[in-house]
Amino acid sequence: MSINLSLPELDVREKRLGAIISYNGSAQDIYEKSLKRAIKPKERSFSQCAACSSSCAFGIISNIIGAVIINHAPVGCASDFAQAQNGLRRGAALRSIEVGKFKAISTNLEEKDTIYGGKGKLREAVLLAKERFNPTVIFVTASCASGIIGEDLESSTEELTQETGINVVPVYCEGFKSKVWTTGFDASGHAILRKLVKKSTQKSNYVNIINFQGDHVFDRLLEKLDLKPRYLFPFSNIEEIEKISDAVATANICETLGSYVAAALESEFDVPEVRAPIPTGIAWTDEWLREIGRLVNKEEKAEEVIKEEHERIKPKLDDLKEKLKGKKIYIMAGDSIVQSYASIANSLGLEIVGSLAFHHDQIYDNHYEEINTVGNMLKHVGNVENYCVANKQPYEFTNILNKINPDFVLVRHPDIVGVVNKLGFPGFHLADPNMIIGYDGVIALGEKIYESLRTKKYVETLSKHFQSPYTDWWLNQEWSTFEEGRREVE
Ligand code: SF4
Repeated sequence: MSINLSLPELDVREKRLGAIISYNGSAQDIYEKSLKRAIKPKERSFSQCAACSSSCAFGIISNIIGAVIINHAPVGCASDFAQAQNGLRRGAALRSIEVGKFKAISTNLEEKDTIYGGKGKLREAVLLAKERFNPTVIFVTASCASGIIGEDLESSTEELTQETGINVVPVYCEGFKSKVWTTGFDASGHAILRKLVKKSTQKSNYVNIINFQGDHVFDRLLEKLDLKPRYLFPFSNIEEIEKISDAVATANICETLGSYVAAALESEFDVPEVRAPIPTGIAWTDEWLREIGRLVNKEEKAEEVIKEEHERIKPKLDDLKEKLKGKKIYIMAGDSIVQSYASIANSLGLEIVGSLAFHHDQIYDNHYEEINTVGNMLKHVGNVENYCVANKQPYEFTNILNKINPDFVLVRHPDIVGVVNKLGFPGFHLADPNMIIGYDGVIALGEKIYESLRTKKYVETLSKHFQSPYTDWWLNQEWSTFEEGRREVE
């Protein structure tokens, strides 16, 4: 484990976790090779898209109450603002909270600033943020431009903290440093942990929940064990963040999102990570509750809760299993959510005919086997053939879906679902990732899949009117044709 909060930056995922963005094989194969960290990163000779780790960092910290974000970057990098603002509004509505204005500023680095430096513009932006918003913290997110010209954000932010009396925190999330956009989650977590979190001497009854902007679905589950969730980091304020080391444990809705923060809280602040699968799907939720019960010496109570919950959801679950019988699904999402979806699909009796993860971490920051999500999928669901890793790449998944022809595509991101529907496959965008948590999450996702399957006729009609940019030549090739070493673009 390579966590060092005294350093300004952490290593990118490729180096820390052996993250890759290209693979074709099976879940069993990727698991076995990853245990030995034996998969070498491969480029593609043709790539359609990528994303920036700065947007992932921005998406987390721009939702912290009382914070202002300064994007120290050319104005084009501020295209993140619109998406983050939408996330803030949608999430605030789900949690029934008032968040006020979205507060972000771009320093608008221009060509001359790459020669003379952007320190003056950064100071101007920080003073403007203080005057306009009077924030409790100002995060400064780095960009390719500020990184390449070697801006000394460390000393600039320290000077500005002294000058303004506001904690000015640098976040090193330059897009060019990593091909794995989720590196930005780690960069935001590193900045928060090293500059804001304090060591606590007392324990509370909180469980830290690393999540996005979703609904407060953990309240009910944890209440039964006399515990309270503390949702991090969207919609937390600085006072709450300072205290998170008083928690009895840290849990994630997604190991990809929370791996670094959970491991750093464990190694640097004595808050254990819950050593169990993510609570998605029935078997995984059982294991998660058992582990929480063990951590707070309430093992018997946890067993009672599991029994009660199984009985409570049984009628609805049986009904859904009957309705979804024989349906084949394909899964496309971020790394750990793929396995969570597979766990729920298994609870619903669906057949998984393949999956595509947007990247793959060969290890997590805490190397515990209990949190290895591919390992947990193999244990509870079994092997998944046609297991692929691609950083989206619509040309590749169009080819895959054309060959596999599932009944339904389980997607997480809004930009993907539009493409999937045009290809004639039912699928929906999971607007609230917390919706799939716990026993109720199995029912909620099952109902949504059933509802979505009924759009089959509509999406088939849509596909008939859709002019695909892909030729028959491409659809007849192997989908991994442009993986490094196989074929060059002519
Ligand atoms: S930080 Fe770099 S990769 Fe990210 S949006 Fe800006 S220029 Fe693009």
